[in-house]
Amino acid sequence: MRFLLSSISIGVAASFMSSCGEVRTSKVMQEQHDSRPVYVRIPTSLLTKEWVQTTGFNRDHAKNNDYAIGWLPSTILTQLSFDERSEIKKLDELAVTEGRLNPFTLETTRTMVDPPTALEDYHNYKAMTDELHRLADSYPEIARLTSLGKSVQGRDIWMMTISDHVDLDEGEPELLYVANMHGDEVVGRELSIYHIRRLLGEYGVRARTTNLVNQSKMFIVASMNPDGFEMHQRYSATNTDLNRNFPDFTSDDHDNSTGRAVETKAIMDLHASHHFIAAVNFHGGEVCFNLPWDTKENATAAEKFADDAVLFPMGRAWADSNPTMAANSSFDRGLTYGYEWYEVNGGMQDWSIFYRQSMHATVELSYTKWPDASYLTTAWAENKEAMFAYHERALTGIHLEVVDNQGLKVPSFEVRIDSSTRGLNYTNGVAHRATSNGAQRVSILVAGRSVAQVTVAARMFDGNYDRVVVAH
Ligand SMILES: [Zn+2]
Repeated sequence: MRFLLSSISIGVAASFMSSCGEVRTSKVMQEQHDSRPVYVRIPTSLLTKEWVQTTGFNRDHAKNNDYAIGWLPSTILTQLSFDERSEIKKLDELAVTEGRLNPFTLETTRTMVDPPTALEDYHNYKAMTDELHRLADSYPEIARLTSLGKSVQGRDIWMMTISDHVDLDEGEPELLYVANMHGDEVVGRELSIYHIRRLLGEYGVRARTTNLVNQSKMFIVASMNPDGFEMHQRYSATNTDLNRNFPDFTSDDHDNSTGRAVETKAIMDLHASHHFIAAVNFHGGEVCFNLPWDTKENATAAEKFADDAVLFPMGRAWADSNPTMAANSSFDRGLTYGYEWYEVNGGMQDWSIFYRQSMHATVELSYTKWPDASYLTTAWAENKEAMFAYHERALTGIHLEVVDNQGLKVPSFEVRIDSSTRGLNYTNGVAHRATSNGAQRVSILVAGRSVAQVTVAARMFDGNYDRVVVAH
């Protein structure tokens, strides 16, 4: 296969190849703002790492051995040679998104003659806003609706917070679910609304739900990219791919939101004031559970995410409980490590783990990004147990109250466990950490110095803490 890098404009190639991470990032952002990228199918034989970096090809989710689907900057596409262009097929993105065109075979599928009746249609921005307000107003004791800020086009990025004593910081474990950061991947947005309804509606009615609301705090962002949804497109209104817009720890050592999309900044700011014990962000275009890392290899135990021993079984459980996911033989029964699928730089998942000590995974909910609304019934049936089980597993681990010998809460400390290579930082005398089952050997450090070692049994949080007294 002949592919001439020299045919690409020198200016763009030079900026991608720059050794300076900041320059590269700003040039890529500039590129993203210039014009809407073109949705294409290209042979995987073209897809060297160098080709991807040089062209700025942004790969889409769907997995296929022969072809990759994704976006090329329109300026790049026009500069390829005739031979190169003939290998690359432009696609009708909306037809693919709605499942009317198979991007690999280029076959068009007929719309269903008699689709099953939808439970309800997708919530557009107005309908979603009204529904979230209605829910928050109906359950004022346990639900609080806030805006993380405005999108480019002035829409609120809504977040529903759910807990008993929702306005207090009780030190309970905090979890985050984010959906619809890609504007045309819409199933997670609806499942988020359904999940909110269930958490609120079943509170005080079902013991399992009541327990989760009482013992933790749930943060749910149904749409991180409300403009993209209204525009029926992946990108934000500035043509920014929000899941490529976060600081990338392998090339950008500045955890800085300056110059990033307002939607990205909203999520970064949220993490500045919360330590999410576990998180999920929802996508579409495949059906799988995607583990970190996306940005680097996960080949050896040393390369894997330090809490892989905790997160992997959580992912396995999610995939096993979803019949469509478990049957996805493109992956390991629906489970994959991100990089081994395809490399993503600047994704939210890796950023929140590396820079914010979270435990964050990516869940792909539907082969068709924007399926007929009748599919939502199936999607909910296949994921509603997993959404609860993931939450419960995240609450299972060690729950410490760390005080000094006067009984005062230690303001700042680190928790290490024998089964993980990462230490996590906590404030205000309370620590929650998801772990494997069984006894955990725990070290508490203050200012880098070990001040206590204890063995505590992992358990689901029930409001009680294991008290550790440290001399420091
Ligand atoms: Zn996505």
